Amino acid sequence: MVEKNYLLLTPGPLTTSEEVKQAMDFDYCTWDDDYKKITQSFRHSLLEVAQVNDEEYTAVPIQGSGTYGVESVISSTISDDDTLLIAMNGAYGKRIGEMADIYGINHVDLVVDERQPITLEEVTRCLDANPGVTHFAMIHCETTTGILNPIEDIIPYVSGRGITTIVDAMSSFGGIPIDVKANKIDYLISSSNKCIQGVPGFSFVIARKEVLENTKGMARTLSLDLYGQYIEMERNNGKWRFTSPTHVVHAFYEALKELKEEGGVEARHQRYTNNQKHLAKGMEELGFKVLIDEKFQSPIITSFIYPTDDFDFHAFYQQLKSDGFVIYPGKISQVPTFRIGNIGEVYDEDITKLLLAIKEITG
Ligand SMILES: *Cc1c(COP(=O)(O)O)cnc(C)c1O
Repeated sequence: MVEKNYLLLTPGPLTTSEEVKQAMDFDYCTWDDDYKKITQSFRHSLLEVAQVNDEEYTAVPIQGSGTYGVESVISSTISDDDTLLIAMNGAYGKRIGEMADIYGINHVDLVVDERQPITLEEVTRCLDANPGVTHFAMIHCETTTGILNPIEDIIPYVSGRGITTIVDAMSSFGGIPIDVKANKIDYLISSSNKCIQGVPGFSFVIARKEVLENTKGMARTLSLDLYGQYIEMERNNGKWRFTSPTHVVHAFYEALKELKEEGGVEARHQRYTNNQKHLAKGMEELGFKVLIDEKFQSPIITSFIYPTDDFDFHAFYQQLKSDGFVIYPGKISQVPTFRIGNIGEVYDEDITKLLLAIKEITG
């Protein structure tokens, strides 16, 4: 079946370049030296994207989607004696809470309105009230709404209190500059199919070695054992413990090369920011209101409020799809919204075309 090609305006999987797709046109041997070299090379490149060196930090890939990487950190680096504080202002924060429940990990939830960012004041108050907290987790870009949480205000402070810090930067890493060391992040999680612009198939964790190396034996599952995967890769020059997504890895290697060619994270951040601003301004001119205050809006994905009570999202979606654009439904309960992402192989002229198509539908 050949379907009509469309531009994915979703937060990942997203539209990838032709070269990234072509990179998958080869059947790699999973334990061959050439393949292991690719793994070692992209692990090193990820540390460059994170602005850290390989003496203090390591990058460890985990098979599966982004959630598997988050679950690997939550399930294999926190012991039964620890307590995790989770700051939640969207579905991805809540998901970490679900994981903690399943593994029986003690957790305190800081629940904030989904339309507001997490603040240092709230986190401080929560830590003061819960002196037993040993680990802290928060989301950088909450893809639920597109809000950007201020990790640079919060994480260094939390770390300064001797707490291990975990940041889900799934939808921002590679698209927004993040200095992992300066921000005192112990574990940062992202995946192959978001701002690095690869295809889905694995996630990865940028971990501070000193912290990770103290988690031996803490895993509650075999396959999501982050320390286990790390040690195997270190001992065996980049060998994954179990079958790895070989095609995805090669596409990712190509995608990282393209990130460099584009001018690195700064240049990509600029492109995404321009895309987002163009989109938000154009949509507002067409009568759509943005959900999140501009001060907290990420350059990744934007939530728009339904323009009328009887707005038919399904019909709108179908029409846009036949015009060559795929968008996203909303994900919050308070207000009916839909979302449009602007990451991936998406440029200013694509936003112009999208706005014209929307004008045609709603005009
Ligand atoms: C995409 C995403 C995830 C992971 O979702 P998967 O469907 O497992 O890839 C986790 N957190 C955030 C903030 C995300 O945007």
